[in-house]
Amino acid sequence: MRRGSLQFKFGLSYILIIAAVLGVMNTYPLLVSQDMTFRAKQSTLQNSVSVMVSSLSGIDRLSAENVPDAMSASEATGISRILVVNDAGLVVYDSRETMDAVGRYAFYSEIVQALSGNDVFHCAYDGTSFKSRAASPVTYRNQTIGAVFAYEYDAEQAMLLRTLQTNLRTISLAVGAFVVLLSLVLSKMFTRSIEDVLAAIAHLREGAYGARAEVRGNDEIAEIAKEFNAMAARVQTNEDERRRFVSDASHELKTPLAGICLLTDSILQNEQMDSGTVREFLGDIREEAQRLSRITEHLLRLTRLDSNAVGAAERVLVAPVVERTVRMLSVIAQEKDVSLSCDIPRGCAVFATQDDLHEIVYNLMENAIKYNHAGGEVCVAACEDGNVCVITVEDNGVGIPEDDMERIFERFYRVDKMRSREAGGTGLGLSIVRDTARRRGGSVTAERREGGGTRFTVRLPLARGEGAGE
Ligand code: ADP
Repeated sequence: MRRGSLQFKFGLSYILIIAAVLGVMNTYPLLVSQDMTFRAKQSTLQNSVSVMVSSLSGIDRLSAENVPDAMSASEATGISRILVVNDAGLVVYDSRETMDAVGRYAFYSEIVQALSGNDVFHCAYDGTSFKSRAASPVTYRNQTIGAVFAYEYDAEQAMLLRTLQTNLRTISLAVGAFVVLLSLVLSKMFTRSIEDVLAAIAHLREGAYGARAEVRGNDEIAEIAKEFNAMAARVQTNEDERRRFVSDASHELKTPLAGICLLTDSILQNEQMDSGTVREFLGDIREEAQRLSRITEHLLRLTRLDSNAVGAAERVLVAPVVERTVRMLSVIAQEKDVSLSCDIPRGCAVFATQDDLHEIVYNLMENAIKYNHAGGEVCVAACEDGNVCVITVEDNGVGIPEDDMERIFERFYRVDKMRSREAGGTGLGLSIVRDTARRRGGSVTAERREGGGTRFTVRLPLARGEGAGE
């Protein structure tokens, strides 16, 4: 277990908590029982002493002659030694059979205090026995004529206390060992899930995008594991998309480059080639170069959209942008014999940039012309719907099969590769439309039109009031 690790901290905190509990468990009950024993001793010993004192009441002067008789009636059991002293501290009675203290002076502090008129009790516990002493004054007509001193030595009670102490210690040791073991197991279990997530993170960092953390239970760590797995899945998808994109882009760039190489080789290797054929080949080379340029332009645009490098949004009127686009595309439309029309309310404006709106409308209209029949129509319209400006681009062209509808916004996806290539398509136009609309908080959808053709619907945030481009 690493020092400072979560497992170490958890284990340590369990152990510290239980150590505190066991510490209290080992001291508090003992102190309480000790205190209770002191109190019990005080009351019994002092009671016995006061019984002895009262049996001596009525004697005017304590002496070795009169005290033993009076004491024989009141002597309590369980007391180790009883001394009775007269007012001078001279022992006149000793409960020991040998009576060896009689005739000597006894100046125990308890006796001295009792002779001054005080009831005294003192008890001590030394681990093996309770030693209790009590003394009370004997009075005759309010005069202290002596004192009764009792001493009790109790090893039995002390042994009970010691047994309790030993039992508590044994229980504590057993509980302590169990808790240490349990804390090790629990902290290991607890941190194992975290370690799993950490290992999965490390794998992902090293490039293993399939790495997932095991989700155990339903606590917060399980939540983290789930979140991580969702994030890893996202990273994996992004990575897959990126790889596919790079491979598709390389492929797309390779084709025109290969064409250019082939055409130039043909010119270079054929010295007798007539100038008409050379010009024809050069025209083809130019076309391929233009295709390359379109692809790179589109790729750059997508990269900018991916990296968020887009201009700040402003209020942009839709009509002027659409009209400009119609003008730009009118030559191609005429070539294909496709008529263009637009119906945009004057004040209708979106919250984006001129460039964004142009990109969206241009790509959709260009497609509508490219994938149309001779004599076809393309219509651009706009309307307001709550806080959204809805722009539709409709055509009555070749249409898109239902199965392809889902995928046409993917990068490099084409329904009809040949047709797209002939029309000079890059397969990126709709991706640019979708990403641009999304960047501005909008969306784009496509649907089949009744009677043939396709309708693209773009939704962008509506901009109200006066602003740029009006
Ligand atoms: P491209 O450069 O090939 O046009 P896009 O991303 O703009 O690429 O479009 C993807 C594919 O969707 C096109 O290749 C074409 O097959 C299909 N498509 C797009 N717009 C239309 C449309 N208006 N009518 C029919 N098919 C369309």
